Amino acid sequence: MQPVCATILLRMLSFEDARQLVITQTKAHATARHTVTLSVSDALGYILAQEVRCDREYPPFDRSTRDGYAVRAKEALRGARLLCAGEIKAGDTVSEQLAPGTCVQIMTGAAIPPSADAVVMIEYTRRENETVIFDRATQPGQNFIPRGSEARSGDLALFPGLRLGFAEMAVAAQVGATTLLCHKKPRVAILSTGDEVVPITETPGPFHIRNSNTVSLSAQIRLAGGEPVPLVNALDRADDLSTKIQQGLRDDILVLSGGVSMGKYDLVEPVLKGMGAEFYFDAVALRPGKPTVFGRCGKTWLFGLPGNPISTMVTFQLFVIPAIDILNGAAARPLPLLQATLSEPVQEKPGLTHFLPSRLEWQGQSPQVRALPWQGSGDIAALTRAHCFLVVPADRPDIPAGEKVSVLPRFDVL
Ligand code: AMP
Ligand code: MG
Repeated sequence: MQPVCATILLRMLSFEDARQLVITQTKAHATARHTVTLSVSDALGYILAQEVRCDREYPPFDRSTRDGYAVRAKEALRGARLLCAGEIKAGDTVSEQLAPGTCVQIMTGAAIPPSADAVVMIEYTRRENETVIFDRATQPGQNFIPRGSEARSGDLALFPGLRLGFAEMAVAAQVGATTLLCHKKPRVAILSTGDEVVPITETPGPFHIRNSNTVSLSAQIRLAGGEPVPLVNALDRADDLSTKIQQGLRDDILVLSGGVSMGKYDLVEPVLKGMGAEFYFDAVALRPGKPTVFGRCGKTWLFGLPGNPISTMVTFQLFVIPAIDILNGAAARPLPLLQATLSEPVQEKPGLTHFLPSRLEWQGQSPQVRALPWQGSGDIAALTRAHCFLVVPADRPDIPAGEKVSVLPRFDVL
Protein backbone atom coordinates (compact mmCIF):
# COMPACT_ATOMS: atom_id res chain seq x y z
CA MET A 1 0.00 0.00 0.00
CA GLN A 2 1.16 3.56 -0.71
CA PRO A 3 1.28 6.17 2.05
CA VAL A 4 -2.18 7.62 2.46
CA CYS A 5 -2.52 11.38 2.86
CA ALA A 6 -1.82 12.98 6.22
CA THR A 7 -3.93 13.54 9.29
CA ILE A 8 -7.66 14.19 9.28
CA LEU A 9 -8.02 17.38 11.30
CA LEU A 10 -10.74 17.77 13.90
CA ARG A 11 -11.19 20.79 16.16
CA MET A 12 -8.33 21.32 18.64
CA LEU A 13 -9.53 20.86 22.24
CA SER A 14 -8.14 22.06 25.54
CA PHE A 15 -6.62 19.20 27.52
CA GLU A 16 -9.46 19.46 30.05
CA ASP A 17 -12.15 19.13 27.34
CA ALA A 18 -10.27 16.31 25.65
CA ARG A 19 -10.00 14.43 28.95
CA GLN A 20 -13.69 14.98 29.65
CA LEU A 21 -14.54 13.62 26.20
CA VAL A 22 -12.59 10.42 26.99
CA ILE A 23 -14.61 10.08 30.19
CA THR A 24 -18.04 10.73 28.65
CA GLN A 25 -17.46 8.47 25.64
CA THR A 26 -16.04 5.52 27.58
CA LYS A 27 -18.79 5.84 30.20
CA ALA A 28 -21.52 5.99 27.54
CA HIS A 29 -20.36 2.68 26.07
CA ALA A 30 -19.56 0.93 29.36
CA THR A 31 -20.56 -2.74 29.43
CA ALA A 32 -20.53 -5.30 32.25
CA ARG A 33 -16.99 -6.43 33.04
CA HIS A 34 -15.82 -9.99 33.55
CA THR A 35 -14.85 -10.86 37.10
CA VAL A 36 -12.16 -12.89 38.83
CA THR A 37 -11.91 -14.19 42.41
CA LEU A 38 -8.63 -13.24 44.07
CA SER A 39 -7.00 -13.79 47.40
CA VAL A 40 -7.21 -10.53 49.36
CA SER A 41 -3.40 -10.30 49.39
CA ASP A 42 -3.28 -10.34 45.57
CA ALA A 43 -6.04 -7.78 45.05
CA LEU A 44 -3.98 -4.56 45.17
CA GLY A 45 -5.13 -2.15 42.44
CA TYR A 46 -8.14 -4.22 41.38
CA ILE A 47 -11.67 -2.83 41.41
CA LEU A 48 -14.07 -4.62 43.74
CA ALA A 49 -17.10 -6.28 42.10
CA GLN A 50 -18.95 -7.29 45.28
CA GLU A 51 -20.18 -5.95 48.58
CA VAL A 52 -18.19 -6.78 51.70
CA ARG A 53 -20.12 -6.61 54.98
CA CYS A 54 -18.96 -6.56 58.59
CA ASP A 55 -19.08 -10.01 60.18
CA ARG A 56 -19.40 -8.55 63.70
CA GLU A 57 -19.25 -5.25 65.55
CA TYR A 58 -16.12 -3.09 65.34
CA PRO A 59 -14.47 -2.83 67.68
CA PRO A 60 -15.82 -6.18 68.93
CA PHE A 61 -15.37 -5.11 72.59
CA ASP A 62 -14.92 -1.83 74.51
CA ARG A 63 -11.30 -1.12 73.64
CA SER A 64 -8.60 0.88 75.40
CA THR A 65 -6.57 3.18 73.17
CA ARG A 66 -3.85 3.75 75.76
CA ASP A 67 -1.62 1.99 78.28
CA GLY A 68 -2.88 3.08 81.69
CA TYR A 69 -5.66 2.34 84.18
CA ALA A 70 -9.32 1.51 83.53
CA VAL A 71 -11.45 3.44 86.04
CA ARG A 72 -14.88 4.74 86.90
CA ALA A 73 -14.32 8.36 85.81
CA LYS A 74 -16.17 9.83 88.81
CA GLU A 75 -13.78 8.04 91.19
CA ALA A 76 -10.53 8.99 89.40
CA LEU A 77 -10.54 12.64 90.47
CA ARG A 78 -7.42 14.77 90.66
CA GLY A 79 -5.42 13.51 93.66
CA ALA A 80 -7.68 10.43 94.13
CA ARG A 81 -6.14 7.12 95.22
CA LEU A 82 -7.53 3.81 93.94
CA LEU A 83 -6.46 0.26 94.64
CA CYS A 84 -5.09 -1.54 91.57
CA ALA A 85 -7.04 -4.80 91.36
CA GLY A 86 -5.05 -6.49 88.59
CA GLU A 87 -4.08 -6.11 84.94
CA ILE A 88 -5.61 -6.74 81.52
CA LYS A 89 -3.51 -7.13 78.42
CA ALA A 90 -4.58 -7.29 74.75
CA GLY A 91 -6.25 -10.64 74.02
CA ASP A 92 -7.26 -11.34 77.66
CA THR A 93 -10.84 -12.52 78.25
CA VAL A 94 -12.66 -9.92 80.35
CA SER A 95 -15.95 -10.53 82.14
CA GLU A 96 -15.58 -9.33 85.73
CA GLN A 97 -17.00 -5.96 86.75
CA LEU A 98 -14.61 -3.31 88.01
CA ALA A 99 -15.27 -3.17 91.76
CA PRO A 100 -16.02 0.28 93.26
CA GLY A 101 -12.93 2.01 94.65
CA THR A 102 -10.55 0.07 92.40
CA CYS A 103 -8.86 0.43 89.06
CA VAL A 104 -7.18 -2.09 86.82
CA GLN A 105 -3.98 -1.69 84.84
CA ILE A 106 -4.75 -1.98 81.13
CA MET A 107 -2.75 -2.11 77.91
CA THR A 108 -3.49 -0.55 74.51
CA GLY A 109 -5.92 -2.73 72.54
CA ALA A 110 -7.16 -4.62 75.62
CA ALA A 111 -10.85 -4.99 76.54
CA ILE A 112 -12.12 -2.53 79.16
CA PRO A 113 -13.97 -4.30 82.00
CA PRO A 114 -17.73 -3.72 82.58
CA SER A 115 -18.46 -0.70 84.85
CA ALA A 116 -15.23 1.09 83.86
CA ASP A 117 -16.00 4.11 81.66
CA ALA A 118 -12.54 5.64 81.05
CA VAL A 119 -8.85 4.87 80.75
CA VAL A 120 -6.27 7.18 82.33
CA MET A 121 -2.90 7.29 80.57
CA ILE A 122 -0.10 5.87 82.68
CA GLU A 123 1.79 9.18 82.26
CA TYR A 124 -0.91 10.95 84.37
CA THR A 125 -0.64 8.58 87.33
CA ARG A 126 1.80 7.59 90.05
CA ARG A 127 2.07 4.19 91.61
CA GLU A 128 2.67 3.48 95.35
CA ASN A 129 2.71 -0.32 95.77
CA GLU A 130 -0.88 -1.41 95.00
CA THR A 131 -2.26 2.14 95.07
CA VAL A 132 -2.57 4.38 92.03
CA ILE A 133 -2.65 8.17 92.49
CA PHE A 134 -4.28 10.27 89.74
CA ASP A 135 -2.68 13.61 88.73
CA ARG A 136 -5.63 15.13 86.87
CA ALA A 137 -9.40 14.90 86.53
CA THR A 138 -10.85 12.13 84.36
CA GLN A 139 -13.63 12.48 81.77
CA PRO A 140 -16.03 9.59 81.11
CA GLY A 141 -15.25 8.04 77.72
CA GLN A 142 -11.63 9.12 77.58
CA ASN A 143 -9.32 6.68 75.76
CA PHE A 144 -12.33 4.36 75.44
CA ILE A 145 -13.66 3.17 72.04
CA PRO A 146 -17.08 1.58 72.68
CA ARG A 147 -17.96 -1.75 71.12
CA GLY A 148 -19.63 -1.26 67.70
CA SER A 149 -18.73 2.44 67.43
CA GLU A 150 -16.77 1.97 64.17
CA ALA A 151 -19.25 -0.41 62.51
CA ARG A 152 -22.20 -2.66 63.32
CA SER A 153 -22.48 -6.28 62.29
CA GLY A 154 -23.88 -6.40 58.72
CA ASP A 155 -22.81 -2.83 57.86
CA LEU A 156 -21.40 -2.30 54.36
CA ALA A 157 -17.61 -2.20 54.73
CA LEU A 158 -16.60 -2.13 51.03
CA PHE A 159 -18.77 -1.65 47.96
CA PRO A 160 -18.60 -2.53 44.25
CA GLY A 161 -16.52 -0.11 42.19
CA LEU A 162 -14.08 0.61 45.02
CA ARG A 163 -10.38 0.56 44.15
CA LEU A 164 -8.51 -1.82 46.43
CA GLY A 165 -5.61 -0.06 48.10
CA PHE A 166 -3.87 -1.08 51.30
CA ALA A 167 -6.61 0.34 53.57
CA GLU A 168 -9.41 -1.42 51.65
CA MET A 169 -7.42 -4.69 51.68
CA ALA A 170 -6.97 -4.31 55.45
CA VAL A 171 -10.73 -3.83 55.96
CA ALA A 172 -11.42 -6.98 53.92
CA ALA A 173 -8.85 -8.85 56.00
CA GLN A 174 -10.35 -7.47 59.24
CA VAL A 175 -13.85 -8.73 58.45
CA GLY A 176 -12.58 -12.12 57.28
CA ALA A 177 -13.14 -11.64 53.52
CA THR A 178 -10.14 -13.74 52.49
CA THR A 179 -11.12 -13.81 48.81
CA LEU A 180 -12.62 -10.96 46.81
CA LEU A 181 -14.58 -10.85 43.57
CA CYS A 182 -12.87 -8.22 41.41
CA HIS A 183 -13.23 -6.88 37.88
CA LYS A 184 -10.80 -8.34 35.38
CA LYS A 185 -8.34 -5.67 34.32
CA PRO A 186 -8.87 -4.23 30.85
CA ARG A 187 -6.39 -5.50 28.28
CA VAL A 188 -4.42 -2.66 26.74
CA ALA A 189 -2.54 -3.45 23.51
CA ILE A 190 0.60 -1.39 22.88
CA LEU A 191 1.68 -0.72 19.32
CA SER A 192 4.79 1.39 18.78
CA THR A 193 5.32 2.63 15.25
CA GLY A 194 8.28 3.93 13.29
CA ASP A 195 10.88 2.65 10.81
CA GLU A 196 13.57 3.94 13.17
CA VAL A 197 12.37 1.92 16.18
CA VAL A 198 14.19 -1.35 17.00
CA PRO A 199 13.58 -3.93 19.75
CA ILE A 200 15.54 -3.26 22.96
CA THR A 201 17.30 -6.62 22.60
CA GLU A 202 18.93 -5.50 19.33
CA THR A 203 21.87 -3.20 18.75
CA PRO A 204 20.49 -0.12 17.01
CA GLY A 205 22.05 1.11 13.78
CA PRO A 206 23.49 4.64 13.83
CA PHE A 207 20.12 6.18 12.95
CA HIS A 208 17.88 3.84 14.86
CA ILE A 209 16.47 4.17 18.37
CA ARG A 210 15.49 1.51 20.88
CA ASN A 211 11.81 0.99 21.61
CA SER A 212 11.60 2.55 25.05
CA ASN A 213 7.94 3.56 24.65
CA THR A 214 6.67 -0.02 24.79
CA VAL A 215 8.52 -0.45 28.10
CA SER A 216 7.27 2.82 29.63
CA LEU A 217 3.71 2.28 28.38
CA SER A 218 3.64 -1.26 29.83
CA ALA A 219 4.71 0.17 33.19
CA GLN A 220 2.17 2.98 33.04
CA ILE A 221 -0.63 0.59 32.06
CA ARG A 222 0.24 -1.77 34.90
CA LEU A 223 0.35 1.08 37.42
CA ALA A 224 -2.94 2.46 36.14
CA GLY A 225 -4.72 -0.89 36.63
CA GLY A 226 -4.64 -2.34 33.10
CA GLU A 227 -3.04 -5.46 31.65
CA PRO A 228 -0.42 -4.52 29.05
CA VAL A 229 -0.31 -6.51 25.80
CA PRO A 230 2.81 -5.42 23.87
CA LEU A 231 2.76 -5.96 20.09
CA VAL A 232 5.66 -5.99 17.64
CA ASN A 233 6.57 -2.49 16.38
CA ALA A 234 4.85 -1.44 13.14
CA LEU A 235 6.76 0.13 10.26
CA ASP A 236 5.61 3.44 8.77
CA ARG A 237 3.78 1.61 5.98
CA ALA A 238 0.02 1.36 5.69
CA ASP A 239 0.04 -2.42 5.12
CA ASP A 240 2.23 -3.21 8.14
CA LEU A 241 0.35 -0.74 10.34
CA SER A 242 -2.97 -2.19 9.32
CA THR A 243 -1.87 -5.79 10.08
CA LYS A 244 -0.56 -4.85 13.52
CA ILE A 245 -3.54 -2.64 14.34
CA GLN A 246 -5.79 -5.59 13.51
CA GLN A 247 -4.00 -7.55 16.26
CA GLY A 248 -4.55 -4.70 18.73
CA LEU A 249 -8.27 -4.57 17.99
CA ARG A 250 -8.71 -7.85 19.90
CA ASP A 251 -8.19 -5.93 23.16
CA ASP A 252 -10.22 -3.37 25.11
CA ILE A 253 -7.87 -0.47 24.41
CA LEU A 254 -5.19 -0.02 21.75
CA VAL A 255 -2.49 2.53 22.54
CA LEU A 256 -0.29 3.49 19.60
CA SER A 257 2.88 5.51 19.93
CA GLY A 258 4.16 7.67 17.07
CA GLY A 259 2.84 8.29 13.59
CA VAL A 260 0.18 10.83 14.55
CA SER A 261 1.90 14.09 13.54
CA MET A 262 1.66 15.91 10.21
CA GLY A 263 4.61 14.19 8.47
CA LYS A 264 4.30 12.31 5.21
CA TYR A 265 4.85 9.01 7.03
CA ASP A 266 2.52 9.68 9.96
CA LEU A 267 -0.11 7.18 8.89
CA VAL A 268 -1.83 6.05 12.06
CA GLU A 269 -4.96 8.15 11.70
CA PRO A 270 -5.63 7.57 7.97
CA VAL A 271 -4.98 3.84 8.33
CA LEU A 272 -7.35 3.63 11.31
CA LYS A 273 -9.91 5.64 9.37
CA GLY A 274 -9.62 3.17 6.48
CA MET A 275 -10.33 0.39 8.97
CA GLY A 276 -13.60 2.02 10.03
CA ALA A 277 -12.44 3.94 13.13
CA GLU A 278 -14.29 7.01 14.31
CA PHE A 279 -12.43 9.84 16.04
CA TYR A 280 -13.46 12.13 18.87
CA PHE A 281 -10.36 14.33 18.81
CA ASP A 282 -7.02 14.40 17.04
CA ALA A 283 -5.45 17.58 18.36
CA VAL A 284 -5.12 18.95 21.88
CA ALA A 285 -3.84 22.43 22.81
CA LEU A 286 -1.04 20.81 24.76
CA ARG A 287 2.75 20.60 24.76
CA PRO A 288 4.07 17.99 24.79
CA GLY A 289 1.27 15.97 23.22
CA LYS A 290 -0.51 18.18 20.66
CA PRO A 291 -1.27 15.54 17.98
CA THR A 292 -2.95 13.07 20.39
CA VAL A 293 -5.77 11.04 18.81
CA PHE A 294 -8.73 9.45 20.58
CA GLY A 295 -11.24 7.25 18.82
CA ARG A 296 -12.92 3.90 18.61
CA CYS A 297 -12.87 1.01 16.17
CA GLY A 298 -15.43 -1.74 16.74
CA LYS A 299 -15.36 -2.41 20.49
CA THR A 300 -11.79 -1.14 20.97
CA TRP A 301 -10.88 2.30 22.27
CA LEU A 302 -8.00 3.90 20.38
CA PHE A 303 -5.34 6.28 21.64
CA GLY A 304 -2.76 7.51 19.16
CA LEU A 305 -0.07 9.14 21.29
CA PRO A 306 2.82 11.12 19.82
CA GLY A 307 6.05 9.08 19.78
CA ASN A 308 8.45 11.38 21.60
CA PRO A 309 8.79 9.59 24.93
CA ILE A 310 7.75 12.43 27.25
CA SER A 311 4.77 13.24 24.99
CA THR A 312 3.76 9.59 25.21
CA MET A 313 4.07 9.60 29.01
CA VAL A 314 2.19 12.87 29.59
CA THR A 315 -0.66 12.04 27.21
CA PHE A 316 -0.99 8.57 28.72
CA GLN A 317 -1.42 10.10 32.18
CA LEU A 318 -3.91 12.71 31.00
CA PHE A 319 -6.08 10.65 28.65
CA VAL A 320 -5.55 6.88 28.91
CA ILE A 321 -5.81 6.51 32.71
CA PRO A 322 -9.46 7.68 32.87
CA ALA A 323 -10.40 5.18 30.14
CA ILE A 324 -8.65 2.36 32.04
CA ASP A 325 -10.51 3.40 35.21
CA ILE A 326 -13.90 3.32 33.51
CA LEU A 327 -13.26 0.05 31.67
CA ASN A 328 -12.20 -1.35 35.04
CA GLY A 329 -15.67 -0.63 36.43
CA ALA A 330 -14.53 2.34 38.57
CA ALA A 331 -15.08 6.08 38.39
CA ALA A 332 -12.35 8.05 36.60
CA ARG A 333 -9.88 9.31 39.18
CA PRO A 334 -9.67 13.09 39.27
CA LEU A 335 -6.44 14.54 37.93
CA PRO A 336 -4.33 14.80 41.11
CA LEU A 337 -3.20 18.41 40.62
CA LEU A 338 -1.37 20.04 43.54
CA GLN A 339 -0.68 23.70 44.22
CA ALA A 340 2.91 24.84 44.70
CA THR A 341 4.85 28.10 44.75
CA LEU A 342 6.95 28.72 41.66
CA SER A 343 10.58 29.27 42.72
CA GLU A 344 11.93 30.42 39.32
CA PRO A 345 9.96 32.28 36.61
CA VAL A 346 8.75 30.45 33.51
CA GLN A 347 8.03 31.77 30.04
CA GLU A 348 6.37 29.63 27.39
CA LYS A 349 4.52 30.22 24.11
CA PRO A 350 0.84 31.14 24.52
CA GLY A 351 -2.02 29.04 23.14
CA LEU A 352 -0.95 25.63 24.46
CA THR A 353 -0.95 24.29 28.00
CA HIS A 354 2.62 23.25 28.77
CA PHE A 355 3.58 20.38 31.05
CA LEU A 356 7.20 20.96 32.10
CA PRO A 357 9.26 18.30 33.94
CA SER A 358 9.80 19.84 37.38
CA ARG A 359 11.03 19.24 40.88
CA LEU A 360 9.08 19.77 44.05
CA GLU A 361 10.92 20.86 47.15
CA TRP A 362 9.35 21.37 50.55
CA GLN A 363 10.17 24.49 52.59
CA GLY A 364 8.52 23.60 55.87
CA GLN A 365 5.08 22.36 54.89
CA SER A 366 4.63 24.26 51.64
CA PRO A 367 5.80 22.86 48.32
CA GLN A 368 7.95 24.89 45.94
CA VAL A 369 8.29 23.88 42.31
CA ARG A 370 11.05 24.51 39.79
CA ALA A 371 11.05 23.58 36.09
CA LEU A 372 14.13 21.55 35.13
CA PRO A 373 16.33 22.21 32.13
CA TRP A 374 15.41 19.82 29.31
CA GLN A 375 15.96 19.32 25.62
CA GLY A 376 12.28 18.84 24.77
CA SER A 377 9.99 15.86 24.72
CA GLY A 378 12.66 13.31 23.74
CA ASP A 379 14.73 14.03 26.87
CA ILE A 380 13.71 11.13 29.11
CA ALA A 381 16.82 11.57 31.27
CA ALA A 382 15.45 14.98 32.39
CA LEU A 383 12.24 13.30 33.49
CA THR A 384 14.14 10.93 35.80
CA ARG A 385 15.10 14.02 37.84
CA ALA A 386 11.48 15.25 37.95
CA HIS A 387 8.76 14.57 40.51
CA CYS A 388 6.03 16.22 38.53
CA PHE A 389 4.97 18.39 35.60
CA LEU A 390 4.49 22.10 36.15
CA VAL A 391 1.30 23.15 34.36
CA VAL A 392 1.69 26.43 32.44
CA PRO A 393 -1.80 27.52 31.32
CA ALA A 394 -2.39 28.34 27.64
CA ASP A 395 -3.57 31.87 28.53
CA ARG A 396 -0.89 32.59 31.19
CA PRO A 397 2.44 31.61 29.59
CA ASP A 398 4.62 34.04 31.63
CA ILE A 399 4.62 33.31 35.34
CA PRO A 400 6.84 35.19 37.79
CA ALA A 401 8.54 33.49 40.73
CA GLY A 402 6.45 33.43 43.91
CA GLU A 403 3.11 32.69 42.21
CA LYS A 404 1.00 29.66 43.02
CA VAL A 405 0.91 27.17 40.14
CA SER A 406 -0.62 23.75 39.48
CA VAL A 407 1.58 20.70 39.28
CA LEU A 408 0.71 17.22 38.09
CA PRO A 409 2.68 14.62 40.07
CA ARG A 410 4.23 11.75 38.12
CA PHE A 411 1.83 9.01 39.17
CA ASP A 412 4.65 6.54 39.80
CA VAL A 413 6.76 8.88 41.94
CA LEU A 414 4.47 10.89 44.23
P1 AMP B 1 6.63 10.39 15.84
O1 AMP B 1 5.58 10.77 16.83
O2 AMP B 1 6.33 9.11 15.15
O3 AMP B 1 6.92 11.50 14.88
O4 AMP B 1 7.95 10.14 16.67
C1 AMP B 1 8.66 11.22 17.24
C2 AMP B 1 9.96 10.75 17.81
O5 AMP B 1 9.69 9.95 18.94
C3 AMP B 1 10.78 9.85 16.91
O6 AMP B 1 11.62 10.55 16.10
C4 AMP B 1 11.56 9.04 17.89
O7 AMP B 1 12.75 9.71 18.23
C5 AMP B 1 10.68 8.97 19.09
N1 AMP B 1 10.02 7.68 19.19
C6 AMP B 1 9.02 7.21 18.41
N2 AMP B 1 8.66 5.98 18.78
C7 AMP B 1 9.44 5.66 19.83
C8 AMP B 1 9.54 4.51 20.68
N3 AMP B 1 8.75 3.46 20.49
N4 AMP B 1 10.45 4.52 21.67
C9 AMP B 1 11.23 5.60 21.86
N5 AMP B 1 11.18 6.71 21.12
C10 AMP B 1 10.30 6.75 20.10
MG1 MG C 1 7.17 8.10 13.62
